[in-house]
Amino acid sequence: MKTSADIIIIGGGVIGLTCAMLAAEAGKKVILLERGKVGKESSWAGAGIIPPGNSKNTEHPGDRLRAWSSEQFPLFSEELQKRTGIDNGYFRCGGLEWLDENQVDNLVESWQREQIPFEAIEAKKGSQLWPQLDCWRLVGKERAFYFPSMAQVRNPRHLKALFSSCIELGVEVKENQERVRFQTGESSQKIIGVMNDENNLFNAEHYLIASGAWSDELTVPLGVSLGVKPVRGQIITYQLGGVPFREVILMGKCYLVPRQDGLLLVGATEEWQAGYAKEITESGREDLRQFAEKICPELRKEKIVHQWAGLRPGSSSPSCVPIIDRLQDYPEIWVSTGHFRAGIQLSIGSARYWLDQILQRPSFLPLGAFPLQGKRDDHWSPAFRS
Ligand SMILES: Cc1cc2nc3c(=O)[nH]c(=O)nc-3n(C[C@H](O)[C@H](O)[C@H](O)COP(=O)(O)OP(=O)(O)OC[C@H]3O[C@@H](n4cnc5c(N)ncnc54)[C@H](O)[C@@H]3O)c2cc1C
Repeated sequence: MKTSADIIIIGGGVIGLTCAMLAAEAGKKVILLERGKVGKESSWAGAGIIPPGNSKNTEHPGDRLRAWSSEQFPLFSEELQKRTGIDNGYFRCGGLEWLDENQVDNLVESWQREQIPFEAIEAKKGSQLWPQLDCWRLVGKERAFYFPSMAQVRNPRHLKALFSSCIELGVEVKENQERVRFQTGESSQKIIGVMNDENNLFNAEHYLIASGAWSDELTVPLGVSLGVKPVRGQIITYQLGGVPFREVILMGKCYLVPRQDGLLLVGATEEWQAGYAKEITESGREDLRQFAEKICPELRKEKIVHQWAGLRPGSSSPSCVPIIDRLQDYPEIWVSTGHFRAGIQLSIGSARYWLDQILQRPSFLPLGAFPLQGKRDDHWSPAFRS
């Protein structure tokens, strides 16, 4: 059986779903093929931290992508809710970021350049405003900064809303599509479609690989290595009567994310050697528990209620900018992956930038801003991480 569309998207995480939704809004016929169930991999597992941004004052494409996406989130969330009735939990909770002394100058300079509102918090003021946090005694070796416009979204709800919106807009979503692979013509390098396990062929004018940590599985048979690797991240949660602070607290690679209903997420491990094993571990739990209790000693009397793991699409590029590009030898195949720790926050901009190229219209970023590995800018370091 052969099915045709304008665009076929492989992967139903936040990237694939957002791309599918925007393309369908633009009038394109879209088929989305998902190996398992939509929105159950890395995008589900994430903490949903959305850093602030001011796209007018950004220079590096990575900063502009983060800033532009961050600016879109409020309206995008509102419109998603109008269309689907699902509240994705987006809200500007504010954030407190702790930095080592040696990171401070560079980052402060980049926030100032971008004109992002922030305030350095001294120990005395911090302990008055956030008496439940026990990290104010660290001020000296570390510095704390408050960002009023840092935000968060609840990933499972956001994905549910995106999925529902895709269905509403007529995207044909096919789940449980095992072993989807590209088919080339016998005598040429031309792609004739993607084949699923049941030998159904799907063909389109454009294909998008949005398969997260598994993206190389689809490109390697075509002779292209993206260098995207799974990087396991674990999270633990507490269910509290009420979380004693409303801000996201970030320190090093770990953070606390309080939800409005008393759920507190503590994340995340960054495990480069775990491969595709999505297991949770005792050591992951213990490291996160110790981190949580160091920041907020009250948590010693609380029980951990849940623990999970997800596989981020990491890349071998030190700066970890995503790849949003087409394959040189197969220009009908696009890739949007490698979003690593920032796929939720970058999702709206990534989808829009990709679609602008497909529709050949001007974009908020120049062509070739996130090329395939080899041509990437590895000297940039982001103003925020999550
Ligand atoms: C613990 C943790 C915390 C995080 N916290 C944050 C955060 O606070 N903020 C933030 O912005 N980001 C965060 N992230 C990162 C973010 O979740 C990822 O960057 C993002 O989810 C990547 O989205 P994706 O759509 O590329 O991948 P995924 O969500 O993994 O989706 C890829 C999809 O493709 C499907 N697929 C794979 N291969 C195939 C195939 N051959 N055929 C069909 N389908 C296929 C998979 O089944 C999957 O559904 C976090 C991640 C983790 C794990």
